[in-house]
Amino acid sequence: MSEGVVAKSLDVIQKVQRARRLYRLAALLGSSTALIVLLICFLGLLIVVALIPYLIFGKEENMAYQASASSWGWMEPAYIDTDGSAYAWPLPTITRITSTFGQRDIGEGAETHKGIDIANGAANTELQPIYATAAGTVVIAGAAEGYGQVVRIEHEGDLVSIYGHLDSHMEVSVGDTVQKGQRIGRVGAGKVGRSTGPHLHFEIRKRGVAVNPLDYVKPPNAEQNMPLELSYRPLRTEAVMQYLTAKKSALADPEILAMIDKAGKSQNVDPHFLIAITGQEQSFVPSNKLHADLIIRNPWNVFGCWCSGKGAELTTEESALIAAKTIVKLSQSRPATVDPIYWLVSRDNPHGYYAEHMGWWIGVKAFYKALLE
Ligand SMILES: [Zn+2]
Repeated sequence: MSEGVVAKSLDVIQKVQRARRLYRLAALLGSSTALIVLLICFLGLLIVVALIPYLIFGKEENMAYQASASSWGWMEPAYIDTDGSAYAWPLPTITRITSTFGQRDIGEGAETHKGIDIANGAANTELQPIYATAAGTVVIAGAAEGYGQVVRIEHEGDLVSIYGHLDSHMEVSVGDTVQKGQRIGRVGAGKVGRSTGPHLHFEIRKRGVAVNPLDYVKPPNAEQNMPLELSYRPLRTEAVMQYLTAKKSALADPEILAMIDKAGKSQNVDPHFLIAITGQEQSFVPSNKLHADLIIRNPWNVFGCWCSGKGAELTTEESALIAAKTIVKLSQSRPATVDPIYWLVSRDNPHGYYAEHMGWWIGVKAFYKALLE
């Protein structure tokens, strides 16, 4: 035997001994079957861990947005009716609101105003055409106490729209089916009903309760070009509280949520979307996290980070507003076929981008979807 062969033999003996030791260990653990099961579990875990980045962010080449109508199929945007488009502003020639929802409105004999008044001086308002805000069925077309001549339309989803102080010449009758944007009448001339001047009193009732019409319609050009998918809808506080509480989030606080809702509303940005961003940026700020008390003041990392510079000097209210304004700014100039969330991080966006990491939009979209479900 050469030296090499001896060394090899010794090597083999050592390997056999090691294998025996392993086998004894296996026997100690129970049976060899148990060991195999353990091995499979371990391998499975390894595979899952290796796949996590792909599960979270997807492959880089999949991150480019592929336009597809179904990609927003899970949403029920507040501004979209059954034909898939926005509710129409009822008086397109006038954008001025002279009396907002909830104001005291002695002129109409009500303690608080159940709708909005749209007018722009008698000369510009009289006999201006009025259009149905959405498809539906006319249930009233005639005089009613406090409303003068009024049209009332029932829509899908237990929604009713009311158009008050019209000219007595109506263009629809009770029982008519109307389409969204169909002309229904004109603003009454002069002093009509109990109103103080020509104006359209526009009201929306959801399940019989008067709600702010501005949650459904916006005056044309009143907002910047926010995509419908991300535009304001009232925060579903109760459901969102539940969601955030389960995540032990420091945002699970009605006062903070009201602040976020207010910031979103002022910029026509969906507050659910603002919250989804905090999920991506800060995991919704778990209250047991180090510096949670500081992060909660800027969970959107506006000005770069909650941790330094201007970004460290904000209140939650201020950072929410800046985040909302940033979303509005970055939403501009979007090609129609590009996903509105992807556009916020797209390097083609001439207004900049929200985050360095391209995976940001996938995470935000997933959180947004979860928050709206
Ligand atoms: Zn009114």
